[in-house]
Amino acid sequence: MIKLQDIRNLTHGGSSKRLLTRITSIARHHSATTSGDYFSFWNGRWKSLGWKTGGYHEIILPDGTVQLCYDPNVITNGISGHNTHAYHICLVGNGEFTEEQEKSWKERANLNISRFKLAIKDVKGHKEYSGANTSCPGIDMNKVRQRLNTVCKKINLTKTGDAHVDNSTPTLRRGSKGVAVGQLQNLLIINGYSLPRFGTDNDFGAETLAAVRAFQRDKGLTVDGIVGPKTWAELNKKPSNQPQYNRLLRITSPMMRGDDVKEVQRKLSVIIDGIYGPQTEKAVREYQRKNKIDIDGMVGPVTWSKMFS
Ligand SMILES: [Zn+2]
Repeated sequence: MIKLQDIRNLTHGGSSKRLLTRITSIARHHSATTSGDYFSFWNGRWKSLGWKTGGYHEIILPDGTVQLCYDPNVITNGISGHNTHAYHICLVGNGEFTEEQEKSWKERANLNISRFKLAIKDVKGHKEYSGANTSCPGIDMNKVRQRLNTVCKKINLTKTGDAHVDNSTPTLRRGSKGVAVGQLQNLLIINGYSLPRFGTDNDFGAETLAAVRAFQRDKGLTVDGIVGPKTWAELNKKPSNQPQYNRLLRITSPMMRGDDVKEVQRKLSVIIDGIYGPQTEKAVREYQRKNKIDIDGMVGPVTWSKMFS
């Protein structure tokens, strides 16, 4: 069971966003230090470089703890020129990594391969990106990919890519303890329900209970705080690869542009030029009329979720 430390609410910047469908590779890095974590990297380096956002989405500490730093739709500063397409994972170390770290790396790499619908060949070392001049990640990436290959074959990937999961999903409630609770907690975090005080501690307390109830409410399940078969099934659902809502799309001057506009245009079968112009607006109005949504010609959260979920 890997320990996730969810610090997404504590990290800096993060306002540059992308659609998840733009992620085409997972980049492995090392910190080139023997210790440290997000906060020391931020204070010691990134802040003074004038960065608005930190370097990596995940940082794996020497004891195997994974710091979740940014949501995957955030563009971070891992490799200049490649950040809009890469998901960055850094192992703290300088060419040498602990067994615990490698174990966490495998789980996280597998999870991310699965949720971004990538292949093992899309897992790359920093220095393998074009234009990079670095020794990072300080390890032979062919060996790294080989190891992922054997792991992927051996385990039936679940949403967490967690090799320890068997299919037993015991009913859990407040007061439950153990590895299954840790699994529950990791799934809650991955689904966006943060556990800021205790994280993955294998102990079903008040914080976990509140997160379970919120999850059940959001998914239309009975809100009883008890994790039975239906709640487990919902937690284990493969994440959808549907694009995420980022901003209100409408006619502006100059006109809005972007991949999210393209997604809408693809959906509406109009010309896909990525520009939110009169043709797109007209098609949106038509879509809203057909789907009995308020007709305003703008794509807000309601129209977006109707289109993509
Ligand atoms: Zn690097």
